[in-house]
Amino acid sequence: MPKKIDYEKIGLKCGLEIHQQLDTKKLFCNCISLLRQDEPDFEVKRNLHVVAGESGEVDTAASYEVSLNKDFIYQGYDTTCLVELDESPPRKINQEALRIALQISILLNANSISFTFSFLTSSSSSLFTSSSE
Ligand SMILES: [Zn+2]
Repeated sequence: MPKKIDYEKIGLKCGLEIHQQLDTKKLFCNCISLLRQDEPDFEVKRNLHVVAGESGEVDTAASYEVSLNKDFIYQGYDTTCLVELDESPPRKINQEALRIALQISILLNANSISFTFSFLTSSSSSLFTSSSE
């Protein structure tokens, strides 16, 4: 018989991360969000190096991936910018995409993790207003 695990005791936290391409610009730069299937113009081979994320903490899953010493191949096109290639820091978050994501989160009765809101700026009061305003 398998041993019963006390998830609360071990501090297990679970979440669901959903990715959806929105009909906006990209999330962390002003490029078009275009999913291409044609042959890439170039490839960049990388090894992961773990760093602190937006929350200031090092991600456990990223640390584990680094320990595996894998190579990752980035495929690039004439539409690929330095942010997408991880060669430049992300720009200010796309406010339209953030507004849409938070609206979907509310509609799903989901809890947004707190550091999501650190991206909000003084314009946060207009996040839930109509884009036609
Ligand atoms: Zn870009």
